[in-house]
Amino acid sequence: MASSTTPLSDQVQRFLFDDTAVRGELVQLHQSYQEVLIRHNYPPAIEKLLGELLAAVALLTATVKLEGTLTLEARGKGEVSLLMAECNTGEQGGDQLRAIARYQGEPTGQTLTELLQGGQLVITLDPYEGNRYQGIVALDQDTLTACLEGYFASSEQLPTRLWLAADSKGAGGLLLQRLPDDARNKDPDAWVRIGHLAATITTEELLHLEQHDLLHRLFHEEALRIFEPNTLKFGCTCSRQRIANALASLGEEELNEALKEQGKLTTECHFCNTSYIFTKDDLPELLNEAIVTPPPNARLH
Ligand SMILES: [Zn+2]
Repeated sequence: MASSTTPLSDQVQRFLFDDTAVRGELVQLHQSYQEVLIRHNYPPAIEKLLGELLAAVALLTATVKLEGTLTLEARGKGEVSLLMAECNTGEQGGDQLRAIARYQGEPTGQTLTELLQGGQLVITLDPYEGNRYQGIVALDQDTLTACLEGYFASSEQLPTRLWLAADSKGAGGLLLQRLPDDARNKDPDAWVRIGHLAATITTEELLHLEQHDLLHRLFHEEALRIFEPNTLKFGCTCSRQRIANALASLGEEELNEALKEQGKLTTECHFCNTSYIFTKDDLPELLNEAIVTPPPNARLH
């Protein structure tokens, strides 16, 4: 391992090519990805898929310029039943990422197909303002990249190319998208040409080469315009109140019974491993919070 490398930051970088209809995003995740991994003891193949899913969720959030929550949820029929990654924007200090996997035993598969054995990928956009949107794509391709490219081709009608990679240290993704032609597009060959340049990217570069160096390496012959990067970090949206709301939905009788049997109720957030403990003294608080809870779309600010 090279010892001279400086720590790379977790960020997503938007860019476009002047006088073309081509734009793109580049993301690299190190610390936030490690924060997901250290909380669980995932097999390497699942780590890799979760890394790719995290990179994808960051890219998609940047691509649609979402202010809200974007979730990618792969529900499988094989050894892995769930892979989920989520990006929440609007937090101070950067957008928050979290992810989780559910699986049985010691998975033996290595690829998306082997581990999930088909199923569905659900894309959910939940903006702070406006309507929730959900798209569903079949997990019928060998890679997450191919499934997502298929989704863009069929649902968004925007030609999109995607590169995703992850190893035990980092996750990365590159996305190119061709926007509908307009007067600003003076270079109709750009999509194919830039696609060829992007396709020369190696996994090592995508994961570990500094972002400006990487964009220069790929596109130095093009009129590339790079925007301010957006910082990403690990973060969880769980809270005592959210857990209390979920418990309160069980009803007073059931909660009373459970508390009598167990003395206390302990609930752990599967994303961040935070434990929330409720005793019988908390029961009025639990039931009361459920009543004053605003509807899911209401925001305090
Ligand atoms: Zn949590």
